[in-house]
Amino acid sequence: MENFVFNVPTKVYFGQGQIRHLPEALAPYGSKVLLVYGGGSIKKNGLYDQIYQVLADFEIVELPGVEPNPRIDTVRKGVDLCRKEAIEVVLAVGGGSTIDCAKAICAGVFYDGDPWDFTGDSSLITAALPLATILTLAATGSEMNAGGVLSNPATQEKLGFGNKILIPKVSILDPAYTYTVSKYQTAAGSADILSHLMEQYFDKTPGTEIQDHLAEGLMKTVIELLPVALAEADNYDARSNLMWASSWALNGLIGRGKSGAWSNHAMEHELSAYYDITHGVGLAILTPRWMMHVLNEETLPYFVRFGKNVWGLTGEDEVVAIGGIQKLYEFFVDCDIPMTLPQVGIDASKLAEMATQAVKHSTIATRAFVPLKETDVLAIFEASMEEMVF
Ligand code: NAP
Ligand code: FE
Repeated sequence: MENFVFNVPTKVYFGQGQIRHLPEALAPYGSKVLLVYGGGSIKKNGLYDQIYQVLADFEIVELPGVEPNPRIDTVRKGVDLCRKEAIEVVLAVGGGSTIDCAKAICAGVFYDGDPWDFTGDSSLITAALPLATILTLAATGSEMNAGGVLSNPATQEKLGFGNKILIPKVSILDPAYTYTVSKYQTAAGSADILSHLMEQYFDKTPGTEIQDHLAEGLMKTVIELLPVALAEADNYDARSNLMWASSWALNGLIGRGKSGAWSNHAMEHELSAYYDITHGVGLAILTPRWMMHVLNEETLPYFVRFGKNVWGLTGEDEVVAIGGIQKLYEFFVDCDIPMTLPQVGIDASKLAEMATQAVKHSTIATRAFVPLKETDVLAIFEASMEEMVF
């Protein structure tokens, strides 16, 4: 295990009705609030009205309309609003897109240049407004971590940024708010959770048993309960466990002491940048193909462990390794996730260009579970054009 610092100071209010704590949670930071939200799901399910009720003593300025795959223009708009209105605290209400956008706004207020610069150099983030979140979709872990991802349609780029000062001060995690998430987004969110776990689990740093066993437990939880949430949208226990898994998959615990070298997110960000697809769906499509591509004599033990401990398989090593990959693929198919690129509107015309960009925008060619050159990424993209046959 490598050395690390673990410090996640987010105060989490977990459970039904916890919104009643919002006033006391925000009060230490100020009374002038920027309410950041997405395309309107919070208006449809009543959360918007609840917020106005509990924050009757606060002054609220709104930034609605944050897009899935949040755009830099919306961040710029938010920064202008904060400055004009002398905002003291930002409240993001939504999924990862809304929270990520809010993080960039919090930092952008204290930066003289364009907040897009953060994606190239997160050390430019030196101060930030305090951030509180109300999570409405179990997926990214953004509610309890330091990172964010922004899209720049003008340059066809989707890139990350992060700084510990962006970790939310407070997050309200009420699983009942996820009852209205569509089956498609519920499944995509869980695919993202699983991907975060797998990105950190498939890592060659030795001696990380705690992280690995915890990751296996979280993966098994998602695999067991996603089908329950899909069958019964208001199953509180299923929604609770998925929501809490979202936070713990990417709040630092599972990845601390490891290399931190991810693969699938770098490739998926190009799919989202070029085609604006749902992040979790892109990850579900790529991950089993990536697994088959990097499975070799040296990586075999990692896949055997995955097949045994996550999927309960037994038998010859190679059979268990490939069986685990097949189980993962079939799980996504069973959850009605489209599992080829053409099914999400991606044809072969830009695969090579996206492969070049994936290598350019990340460290996958040098630092990864198995380093990937452009030709490797292209092979994974090409394999994603057709259904997998085992
Ligand atoms: P999202 O993009 O925030 O939301 C997806 C859709 O779900 C939106 O249309 C949203 O509608 C809807 N939705 C959210 N909550 C809902 C609810 N309770 N009821 C009905 N509909 C609801 O999805 P996400 O998967 O959470 O976030 C994806 C983004 O996060 C991507 O850009 C991805 O790259 C990034 N990401 C960040 C991290 C990180 O650590 N920061 C990690 C992984 C991925 P409304 O807009 O109307 O609310
Ligand atoms: Fe993700």
